[in-house]
Amino acid sequence: MSKLPIITLPDPVLRQASAPIERVDADLLRLADDMLETMYAAPGIGLAAVQVGVPRRLIVLDVADTEQGEAREPLVLFNPRILTLGAETRVYEEGCLSLPDVRIDIERPKTLRVGYIDRAGAARELDADGLLATALQHEIDHLEGKLIIDFLSRLKRDMVIRKFKKQARQDA
Ligand code: ZN
Repeated sequence: MSKLPIITLPDPVLRQASAPIERVDADLLRLADDMLETMYAAPGIGLAAVQVGVPRRLIVLDVADTEQGEAREPLVLFNPRILTLGAETRVYEEGCLSLPDVRIDIERPKTLRVGYIDRAGAARELDADGLLATALQHEIDHLEGKLIIDFLSRLKRDMVIRKFKKQARQDA
């Protein structure tokens, strides 16, 4: 496994819609393992393939609290899609590995059911609530080119984008 560079704003690939995966092959399984390693090292609780510059519909997650002694629970989902969303919502302060130092309170459905293809290529469904439900919605948003700043007003969103553009110019 190897750690991959994480793409950050304002790289336009983050705004690209990701293409469906037709078949889970060895290359994609290796990519999923590399994404998990990248996510754990960051550290983060979720990562979409587009965030490492591969606009394909693949996300990895692990919301286990290992600092509290919980064992790792890596999840790899190919072609994830939301089947149903619960009526109740929760607000959670979300961050994103592609937007370092940005935290935004976002209200989303508290529960959901997701359909996906697993590592073996089998169709599966997953019911989630709480942090996992939030993280799944965040990562699936990435597959449509949607970012947490899209939940802000245009004024605030433009401020964040300007900050990242300025930073990118300074780093160049
Ligand atoms: Zn993100």
